[in-house]
Amino acid sequence: MTGGLESYNRFALPQRTSLAIRVLGTYGGSAPGYRMTTFLIDGETALDAGSLTETLPFGAQRRVRRVVLTHAHFDHFASLPFLVANLVGRESAPLEVAAPEPVLFALRKHVFNDVTWPDFTRLPSPARPTLRFRPMSEGRPFRAGSVTLTPVPVSHLIPGYGYIVAKPGRSVVFSGDTAPTERLWQAARRVRNLKAIFLEVSFSDTQAEAARESKHMTPRLVAKELAKMPPKVPVYLYHMKPPSLARIRREIAALREPRLKLLESERSFRF
Ligand SMILES: [Zn+2]
Ligand SMILES: [Zn+2]
Repeated sequence: MTGGLESYNRFALPQRTSLAIRVLGTYGGSAPGYRMTTFLIDGETALDAGSLTETLPFGAQRRVRRVVLTHAHFDHFASLPFLVANLVGRESAPLEVAAPEPVLFALRKHVFNDVTWPDFTRLPSPARPTLRFRPMSEGRPFRAGSVTLTPVPVSHLIPGYGYIVAKPGRSVVFSGDTAPTERLWQAARRVRNLKAIFLEVSFSDTQAEAARESKHMTPRLVAKELAKMPPKVPVYLYHMKPPSLARIRREIAALREPRLKLLESERSFRF
């Protein structure tokens, strides 16, 4: 009986050869209807964790095997402490939190430190913890179930990374939070079968100074970055600060650049 059910489920799953990306949160701030940055890859790997617990029911939360982080700013991990608390006692392996060491260091020191939140790498017991940190190396593909993720340093206030997400025959690039940057685009130009680029745009051009100080993009900067990217690939813009959205939308439309698409709400991609 159980075997029959399992094989039924296996056939019901989406084709493993495609790359499924659910955009659960696309904003760089929080307000009703504006969820913070979270992408779910093949249902089991979250890239950033701004809004995992408010978008996924418990069953889907339990299927998340790992959270990969671009950097340790709050809007990118806000739901992680609550996800971990919901997973205490899960039968399967601990939730992996993966990122280059500077990001993990910040989470250990400032979040899961037994002050701000319990140290779930030792709970409910050190032998069977709920959470496990997995350091990634810059520029090295990291195996994450159905895909590999390669972190590439970008240009933000604190150590931050873009990611090249790949499986055979298809790849996508995520910028993470960044000001104008170089290495990520160098790496992206070498990627084969690149299907999409997800790029941040946080502020309006009227807030250029705020963008410069906080190391983020505006539509005008995005237009300049386009020239460094591989040609023809669609560019999905995310991480808008909610109060800036209306202006950003007008400024992006005024660029009349068909490759640019503003990601304003939850959406599923299959590449
Ligand atoms: Zn952010
Ligand atoms: Zn940030």
